[in-house]
Amino acid sequence: MGMDPSPGSKRVLVIGGGPAGMKAACSAAERGHKVTLVEKKHRLGGQVLLNRDIPGRRELVTLAKDLINNLEALTVDIILGKEANPELIRETAPDAVVVASGARPILPDIRGIESKKVVQAWDLLDGKVGVGKKVAIVGGNAVGLETALYLANQGTISPEVLHFLMTNRAESLKGLTELLNKGNKEVTVVEMAKRAGQDIGPSTRWTVMAELRRLGVRIRTGTKAVGITPDGLEVEKKGGPDFVPADSVVIVAGSRSENGLIGQIQGMGSEIYTVGDARKPRNVLEAIREGFMVGLRL
Ligand SMILES: Cc1cc2nc3c(=O)[nH]c(=O)nc-3n(C[C@H](O)[C@H](O)[C@H](O)COP(=O)(O)OP(=O)(O)OC[C@H]3O[C@@H](n4cnc5c(N)ncnc54)[C@H](O)[C@@H]3O)c2cc1C
Repeated sequence: MGMDPSPGSKRVLVIGGGPAGMKAACSAAERGHKVTLVEKKHRLGGQVLLNRDIPGRRELVTLAKDLINNLEALTVDIILGKEANPELIRETAPDAVVVASGARPILPDIRGIESKKVVQAWDLLDGKVGVGKKVAIVGGNAVGLETALYLANQGTISPEVLHFLMTNRAESLKGLTELLNKGNKEVTVVEMAKRAGQDIGPSTRWTVMAELRRLGVRIRTGTKAVGITPDGLEVEKKGGPDFVPADSVVIVAGSRSENGLIGQIQGMGSEIYTVGDARKPRNVLEAIREGFMVGLRL
């Protein structure tokens, strides 16, 4: 608001409004730097927002909202709907650039991957695309299993409807249990490793596995997806080839850092720092920790 920045204060451009970028912007602003954050989407939050409809993962969305509230309470210039590019760095010539551009999902090299029945889990969880009744999920890590929970939960009754049916004695207990456990999707997860959900902590993993079992999700471990046909997914396992019938195939094959900008802006005169998934895809805590630390180093 027209105030001169204090001595030693730098003009900082943060690229990306996920947890890493938001935390970096907060800690830099708290130390008196003049911070601008640009986010290419029309909302802050990054990948964390993909958790919003996954049963049991809403606390992550609360975490993102906390970061947004902190950020908005500080004097940070937030620009939404703008993709940072080399021209922006050239025009604004910031003293420091914090690259917090996150990651993007990997599309594995499977025969038929270009088929219309293939969707990326990120697009599905973002509500951009839908899937048919029979769904095969390729990849059974944490995100794969959470995507399975999200799909298997569709069509089950909500606590409110359960309350209504119970208080009005409209269904037998057996009927209610069925309505709670049976959605309108048939979900199969295909995982190459011997165990699914290996990247989930032990105290959480068993609850996720129990939920998947309750909802009738089939998990096929030691099974590799090799091809997509009009009828489903061709797989290979120890005993030989096999087939998973599917109307839709959801890909959950991990993510790759989104950091192509770094090479393009080196040598333009700004200090460059990279934080969060843009350094290496990991998790929210690491993203926040690195964002905080970079604010201290500036
Ligand atoms: C479905 C799903 C579930 C997950 N569940 C968990 C979990 O339970 N626990 C956990 O710890 N982690 C989880 N993760 C991982 C976690 O969300 C990420 O590690 C974390 O969001 C990384 O934060 P980030 O700020 O580095 O990147 P991101 O969250 O990817 O944010 C990067 C932001 O930068 C923006 N951007 C990119 N390029 C530009 C550009 N050129 N200009 C402007 N803006 C740009 C993007 O639009 C995005 O908003 C999950 C991920 C997914 C996909």
